[in-house]
Amino acid sequence: MKIVGTDAPDVERALLAGDLACPACAGRLRPWGHARVRVVRHRDDEELRRPRRSRCGGCSLTHVLVGEDCLLRRRDDAEVIGAALGAKASGRGHRRIADDLGRLAATVRNWLRRFAGGAAEIRSFFTVLAHDLDPMLGPLLPRSTAFADAVEAVACAARAAVGRLGSRPPWSFASAATGGRLLSNTSCPWEAGA
Ligand SMILES: [Zn+2]
Repeated sequence: MKIVGTDAPDVERALLAGDLACPACAGRLRPWGHARVRVVRHRDDEELRRPRRSRCGGCSLTHVLVGEDCLLRRRDDAEVIGAALGAKASGRGHRRIADDLGRLAATVRNWLRRFAGGAAEIRSFFTVLAHDLDPMLGPLLPRSTAFADAVEAVACAARAAVGRLGSRPPWSFASAATGGRLLSNTSCPWEAGA
């Protein structure tokens, strides 16, 4: 799978022009039909999407193109998951967050655990990225937990990115920056695939 922008006509143009790089070998991706319809759950509604499938001209692997408003293998969109992460960083418990978002407690707990498991790597990755995007940025102030530190680093990098790359929802930025693997449970997984 490959994370792409959310403007479908734009993505289609880039795909047809051979402007999308294979996440495995950096070869050029070409159109290769469509993937199965999937449900994307937004905060208050659901959407059916049929993602584009692509095939690499170099290594012949196929990659489903996933919009950056999603994370890989998650039905809920990145902003919903990000809202849960932000609430946890503010000290809220997973049941309360699940109630607020209208999600199952077990689903929210799973997001929080995955993020907590990678918190040190996430903090480090996004702190470096924030300073790359904004060399004038001062040091990030420590929060009360490693979890909150990681959320703060994502937020700082997202704010720094607005100045450089234009406005974009913060957790979509985080998905794009990690190749959709923000909640992957392997350590620092996005370096290999990004
Ligand atoms: Zn390839």
